[in-house]
This record gives sequence, C-alpha cells and structure tokens, in this order.
Amino acid sequence: MKRILITGAAGFLGSHLCDRFIKEGYYVIAMDNLITGDLRNIEHLFKLENFEFYHHDVTKFVSVPGELDYILHFASPASPIDYLKIPIQTLKVGALGTHNLLGLAKVKKARILIASTSEIYGDPLVHPQTEEYYGNVNTIGPRGVYDEAKRFMESITMAYNRFHGLETRIVRIFNTYGPRMRLNDGRVIPAFIGQALRGEDLTVFGDGSQTRSFCYVDDEVEGIYRLLLSDYALPVNIGNPHEITIKDFAEEIVKLTGTDQKVIYKPLPQDDPMQRQPDISKATNILGWEPKVSRSEGMKKTYEYFKSLPEEELYKKDHKDFKDYNRI
Ligand code: UDP
Repeated sequence: MKRILITGAAGFLGSHLCDRFIKEGYYVIAMDNLITGDLRNIEHLFKLENFEFYHHDVTKFVSVPGELDYILHFASPASPIDYLKIPIQTLKVGALGTHNLLGLAKVKKARILIASTSEIYGDPLVHPQTEEYYGNVNTIGPRGVYDEAKRFMESITMAYNRFHGLETRIVRIFNTYGPRMRLNDGRVIPAFIGQALRGEDLTVFGDGSQTRSFCYVDDEVEGIYRLLLSDYALPVNIGNPHEITIKDFAEEIVKLTGTDQKVIYKPLPQDDPMQRQPDISKATNILGWEPKVSRSEGMKKTYEYFKSLPEEELYKKDHKDFKDYNRI
C-alpha cells in the first residue's frame, strides 16, 4: 500500500485530497494544526485502518514514522481575510513549513507536491496567465505575506529538485470552490452564499469589474492527482479558464439562491487583482486534464452544502479567534 502524507488535511482542499487518496487505496497520514482547518472535514475517515491524523504545526520539525512514498503540502491559510489576521503564520507555513517537508521528503526518498497559487502572478499584467509569466506582486502589501511565501516555496522546491535531485511537483491553484469551504473565511463564494442565506445584501467589492475563474473542487483534485503521478517537475496551472466579473457572479448567486436582497458595493481591498484566468494548455498537453464541471453544476452542489449546515453556523463569526495564534 502506497503511503502519503497530506498537510493541511483538515482544510478545504486537503480534506478532499484525503478522500481521493483513500479512494485510490493509499495509506493516508493527515496532518494539520487546526488553525484554519476543521476536524469535521475529515472525521468520517477516522474509523478507517488506512488513515491516521497528526495534530501538528509543520513550521516545527516534522517527523513521521515509517516509509513515505508521497507528500502533499497543502497547509496554509488561503483567504485574504485569514492572512490579514495571521500574517506571520502565513509566511512561516509557506517558508519554514515547506523547508521542513522538503527535508522530510529527502530523508524518506518521497516525491513531494507543493500547493502554489495564482497569487504568485499578483495583479497580472499578462492575460490569461501562463506558467512562464513572472508576475506582478507587491511584496509589502497585505497579500505580500501569502504571495511571497508561495514564491519562496516554489524557489526552495526547485532548489531541492536541482541540488538534491528530489522528485518535486508544483501546482499553481486558481480560485477553487465546493463543499467544505469555510463559511466565514471572507472568500467571495462563502461570503455571497452566507449573505443570501442570512437575508443580507450581497457585498461586491469595488465596481465588480474585476474577474475571477472558478474551478470546482473535484476538477482541481483530479488535476493535482494527475500532476503528482506525472513526471513533470515545473509549475502547472490547474484552474477553470471560464472567467466572470464579480458583478455578474453576484447576479448569478442572486438567481441561484432566489434571494430578494440587493447587490451593494463596498471599497475594493488593496492589491485586489483586476483579472485572473489560467492558461491551462500545459495541464491539457502534459496531463490530459481539463475541468469537467460547469459553474452552474458546481455552484448548485456548493449551495446545497451551505444550506445543509446547522443554522447557527451562519451566524458564527468564525470557529476560532485567530488572534491567539499570532504568538506561536
Ligand atoms: N469579493 C467581493 N465581495 C466579497 C468578497 C470578495 O466582491 O464579499 C471580491 C474580492 O474583492 C475579489 C473577488 O471577490 O475581487 C474574489 O475574492 P476572494 O477573496 O474569494 O479571492 P481572491 O481571488 O481575491 O484571492
């Protein structure tokens, strides 16, 4: 049985990856410090013999008994609101956490895939974004802690690949959505759906002309799975190229939820990228991958998930006070 370590395993993407590798017959070692992750996302796996969970912060030395074939490093806050609240932890998990996991991969002779992001392109001046584009990032802006940590993560991963001959993979993840997103993490999809369910107006930031391209989680996981098992070490964009303005997206959510609330406009956060769309030719050519789930189908499933949550979840500020973690 192949053994895989998944960090950030109790988070949105991490938990879906645990499900996928369990389904493929792997022994899954899940790790999370539970700052932004939630054990409820993986509690259904605890009864399985080929699943175990470590409550651990990967910015500290990481030790796992036994052999490892693969490591997926998915631990990180991933929403602008989160990294404003815990900026130092965001930098540490991308930098120190990645260093620890690369060291572990070297000792175990494991292949490691790291979760990079479209944020490394910053507010892009090239559209759509190809992997060859170097990006346009403000190092000292509010998003800098995430963007620069992820850029460092790519650099140190390539250094381990070239210097130590480690088998590495880099996925650049574009906006992904689906069940198990955190309702109050501030990202646009839980924000709009939460507002519709609470009977509040939908808050579009800026004039809503900024664009995003949303990928359903099952498609994202399939792309990551194929990349891990491929022999391609350079970064690959995995995302859905179907682009939409945030204003039009808000109107779609109004229709989907049947809410009678209005769309209202709030100031645009600093350094909010104006446009984002992945060029996925590499993923298509190298991995034979392309997204299959349409936005209407994916959003229906996502809405059903949020509707199924206990009502009090809708009114919780967040499941934790992040400020406590700034001292770690
Ligand atoms: N956004 C919005 N209203 C909200 C939350 C987000 O208009 O309540 C906008 C945000 O300014 C950005 C886009 O939606 O332009 C996507 O934001 P998100 O935080 O989901 O992810 P990002 O792609 O910016 O990291």
